[in-house]
Amino acid sequence: MLAPVTARVIDGKAIAAALRARIAERTANLPFKPSLTVVLVGENPASAVYVRNKDRAAQSAGLLAQTIRLPATVPAADLLALIRRLNADPEVDGILVQLPLPDALLPRPIIEAIDPAKDVDGFHPLNVGRLQDGLDVLAPCTPTGVMRLLAAADIPIRGARAVVLGRSAIVGKPMATLLLAADATVTIAHSRTVDLTEECRRADILVAAVGRPEMVRGDWIKPGVTVIDVGINRTADGRLVGDVAYAECAAVAGAITPVPGGVGPMTIACLLENTVKAAIHRRLACD
Ligand code: NAP
Repeated sequence: MLAPVTARVIDGKAIAAALRARIAERTANLPFKPSLTVVLVGENPASAVYVRNKDRAAQSAGLLAQTIRLPATVPAADLLALIRRLNADPEVDGILVQLPLPDALLPRPIIEAIDPAKDVDGFHPLNVGRLQDGLDVLAPCTPTGVMRLLAAADIPIRGARAVVLGRSAIVGKPMATLLLAADATVTIAHSRTVDLTEECRRADILVAAVGRPEMVRGDWIKPGVTVIDVGINRTADGRLVGDVAYAECAAVAGAITPVPGGVGPMTIACLLENTVKAAIHRRLACD
């Protein structure tokens, strides 16, 4: 029989709803409506769901949102031309090209074509570098969302040992950067890490972003640790699970995020926050 859940469950849904409400309030007090343009290329069903959710969330927070849909066969030159048009459009505050792109399109030139001031995903190399330098930038939404969750749950970061499992440019690396900027002692672990479980056991804060269903087991973590599960994986029987074996880890951890209802809702809320931030910076040249 499984041990009971003793960890405090960090309710990402509620924390994201509160953040969205603050964004709506801020937006209502602006002399303009911040606007988000999402570009969706191809027919990836998961991407279509994400984009719909982003659109709805943006509109209900009082932002203007539009999605531009292009066929998977669109030539790179046409996509680049569209991005240049959006860059030049004064009514567009945030541009997001939904990833992954179809195989025929290289993501790098597309991301680099987006005006860094409108790059609400925070993937442009200028924003990546500025984040590394500790400057105030449009930072990637998922790791920013994790930082907001830790703050809302009053998890101490300064001096804590943080282990980030995964080193992607979208989650793992910027996650490590943000934790480091908040004075954690950070280890990044990945598929070539020797003795992964031992690294995980040292963590006071463990962020799992590997894309491996329920990889982190209850005996990989020390009692009292804060476990943040970024993973979103669909099992063969259709369940949505994270990178963490939730029931096992919730019996050992001090605090834990569920999947769904943990990090996921924060990603979208932080996208809206970035859009408002980009709009204020560009239109009012202040924050
Ligand atoms: P990714 O680009 O595939 O990167 C996965 C990382 O995990 C890589 O650094 C990889 O190491 C590492 N890894 C893979 N297998 C491993 C293993 N067996 N042991 C140790 N490390 C391993 O994935 P991602 O884009 O970062 O996404 C990670 C997860 O987060 C996915 O489930 C994704 O769906 C989810 N996600 C959720 C949100 C959200 O809003 N909640 C947003 C983005 C992503 P190497 O570098 O050595 O290959």
